[in-house]
Amino acid sequence: MPEIKKKYYIIGNPVEHSLSPTLHSYIYKIFNLSCSYHKIRIKKAELKDFIITCRLKNISGFNVTIPHKETIIPLLDKVEDEAKLFGAVNTVKNEKGKLYGYNTDIIGCRYALKRSSWQQSGKVVILGAGGAARSALAALSSFTPSSVSLFNRTPEKARLLKDQFSDHLNFDIIAENVKFHNMENLLSNTTLLINTTPVGMWPETQNSPISDSKIIPENITIFDMVPNPVYTTLLKDAEKRGAEIISGLSMLISQAVAAQEIWLERKIPLETFNKLWTHIIEMSGQYHEHD
Ligand code: NAP
Repeated sequence: MPEIKKKYYIIGNPVEHSLSPTLHSYIYKIFNLSCSYHKIRIKKAELKDFIITCRLKNISGFNVTIPHKETIIPLLDKVEDEAKLFGAVNTVKNEKGKLYGYNTDIIGCRYALKRSSWQQSGKVVILGAGGAARSALAALSSFTPSSVSLFNRTPEKARLLKDQFSDHLNFDIIAENVKFHNMENLLSNTTLLINTTPVGMWPETQNSPISDSKIIPENITIFDMVPNPVYTTLLKDAEKRGAEIISGLSMLISQAVAAQEIWLERKIPLETFNKLWTHIIEMSGQYHEHD
C-alpha cells in the first residue's frame, strides 16, 4: 500500500512571512519523511470552520500564530498543562479527529536560553507584553531570575502579564517607556534583556528598541525574539558592545523541532538544530526577496 502523506500547516493572519514551512519541510527532507507543511491565512472569523475541516480531513497537525494562539484553546479537545496554565497554544496534533494543544514557543524559548551562557539568575528586563512576552515569562518561570521588569507601550498589558505570572516570578518595574527610567543604570545590573516587540523586524531592520546602544553593558545577554533578520540591529549593537547575543532564530528552530517531536512521536537528534540553522542562513537572502 502506498504510504499516506501526512499534511501539516501553519495558520494565522498574517502568515505570508512565516519561516515555518522552510524549517519543517527541511526536517522532512533530513529524515526522508513523507510529510508536507504549508501556510494558510486564516482570519479570526474563519477559525471555527478551519477546526471543523481539520477534524474531518486528513490534516495531521498544525502550528498556530497571531491572532489565534489564545482563541483556539476552547475549540480544542485537550490542552497540555503548561499551555493551559499560560493560556496560549501554538501546536495542535490531530489524533483521529481529536485535537490536542501544546505550546512549543515556551519550550523553544527555554531551550534558546539554556543554549546560551546566561547564568539563569539575576535581574531580567523584558520589552513588550504580547504573546512572545508571555512565552518568555513562562520559560523564565522554570529558571531563577531575582526579578523581572516589564516595559510596554501599553502598560496595562504589562500589568495584566504581571498579575498572570506573579505566582511564578518576582516583578520589579512595570512601566510604559524605557526612556522614562534610568535604563543605563537598570541594564548595568541586569543579566538578561529580552526584546519581545517586533521593533527591528524586517523590513524595518534599521530600528532597535534600544536606540542608544552605548547603554548596553558588555556582561549582559541580549535575546531578540525577532527571527527575521537573524541578526537584528539590536543584536549587532549588543555584539559590538561585547554582550552575549541570542537570535530569535534559535527559539524558532527549537519550537519547530519540539512541534515535530510531538507530531512524529520521536526524538529529533540535537545536531538537527545546526543543520536547520545553516539551512535558514543560506535561504535567508531568498526569503527576504520573496517576503
Ligand atoms: P503581539 O502579541 O502583537 O505583541 C507585540 C508587543 O510588542 C506588544 O506588547 C506591543 O505593544 C509591542 N509593540 C508592537 N509594536 C511596537 C512598537 N513599534 N514599539 C514598541 N512596542 C511595540 O506579538 P507577539 O506574538 O508577541 O510577537 C512579537 C515579536 O516576537 C514578533 O517579532 C514575532 O516575530 C516574535 N516572535 C518570535 C518567536 C520566535 O520563535 N523567535 C515566537 C513568537 C514571536 P502594545 O501592547 O502597546 O501593542
